[in-house]
Amino acid sequence: QAKRSVTVIGLGPMGHAMAGAYLDAGYAVTVWNRTAARADELVARGARLAPGAEAAVAANELVVLSLTDYDAVFAVLESVEGAVAGKVIANLSSDTPARAREAARWLTERGAGHLTGGVQVPPSGIGSPESSTFYSGPVELFNRHRAALEVLTGADFRGDDPGLAQLYYQIQMDLFWTSMAGYLHATAIAEANGISAEEFLPYLSSTAASMPGFQAFYAPRITAGNHAGDVDRLAMALASIEHVRHTAEASGVDDALPAVLAEAFRRGVESGRGAASLTALVGQFRRAQL
Ligand code: NDP
Repeated sequence: QAKRSVTVIGLGPMGHAMAGAYLDAGYAVTVWNRTAARADELVARGARLAPGAEAAVAANELVVLSLTDYDAVFAVLESVEGAVAGKVIANLSSDTPARAREAARWLTERGAGHLTGGVQVPPSGIGSPESSTFYSGPVELFNRHRAALEVLTGADFRGDDPGLAQLYYQIQMDLFWTSMAGYLHATAIAEANGISAEEFLPYLSSTAASMPGFQAFYAPRITAGNHAGDVDRLAMALASIEHVRHTAEASGVDDALPAVLAEAFRRGVESGRGAASLTALVGQFRRAQL
C-alpha cells in the first residue's frame, strides 16, 4: 500500500503543528509557506518543501490550508488556480460562513472540492483525538478523508452547507470572547481592590461551573419560546448589572463592558419585558439584527 500523503499550506503556529502531527503519524508531508523559513524545522523532520504553492497543491489529493483568514486563502488559491482541479481542499482557516461558501463555490467551479473546518483548539491540541474541529461540505469528501483529518483532531461533521463549520465555530467564539472579557473585567475589579487573580480564582471557577446548569435549564425554555419570569426577571438583571457597573466605576475600572449590558437590559425593560426572564434577550438580540 502506498504511503499516505498530504499537503499542508500555511505554517503559522497552527499549520506547523498540523504538518508535525502528520509527520508523527507517518504521512509523507509536502509543505509550502509564503515565508519559506517557517518550514525549516519540518523539513529537518522529513517534510518536503515544495518549490511553490502550485507544486504543493499538485503533490497530493488532500491539501490542508491553515491561513490567517480567507483573504489569505484567496491570495493562495488564485495563485494556484491551474492546479486545483481534482483536489480536495480542507480549509482550516477561520472566517465567516459567507466567506466559506464563497471559497467552496470558487473551488467547485474549478473542479475541486472544499471542506470547511473550524478548529476549536490551540496548536497544543493538534494531534489529539480529544480535540475537536467542526467540518462541513460534501459528506462523501469528508468520509473519504476522515481518517486523515482525524490525525489532527476529532472531527465533528455538521452538514453539507460549507458555511456551517464556520457558523458553529463563530458562535462558539462569541461565547468564548464574551466570557473571557467578563473574566478579565471581573479580575480588573478584583485587582483594583487588592484581590489578586489567583485569590479570585476559586470564586471565578465556582461561578463559571454554575453556567452549564443555567444553560441546561434555559435551553428547552428558549426553544419552546417560554420566557416566563418565574425564576428571574429582566428588571432584576438590570438593577444587578447597574450595581456591577457602579462597583467598577468606584474601583477606577472602565465600566464600558457592564454599560453595554445595562443598555441591552434597559432596552428590554423599556419595551415591556421587565417582568419576563432574562432569556427574552434572545428575541431582542435577533430583532436588533433585522
Ligand atoms: P497565523 O496568522 O499566525 O499564520 C497563518 C499563515 O497564514 C502563515 O503561514 C502566513 O504566512 C499565512 N498567510 C497570511 N497571509 C497570507 C497571504 N496573503 N498569502 C500567503 N500566506 C499568508 O495563524 P495561525 O497559524 O495561528 O492560525 C491559522 C488559522 O487557524 C487562523 O485562521 C486562526 O484563526 C485559526 N485558529 C488558530 C488558533 C490558534 O490558537 N493559533 C486556534 C483556532 C483556530 P507567513 O508565515 O508568510 O506570514
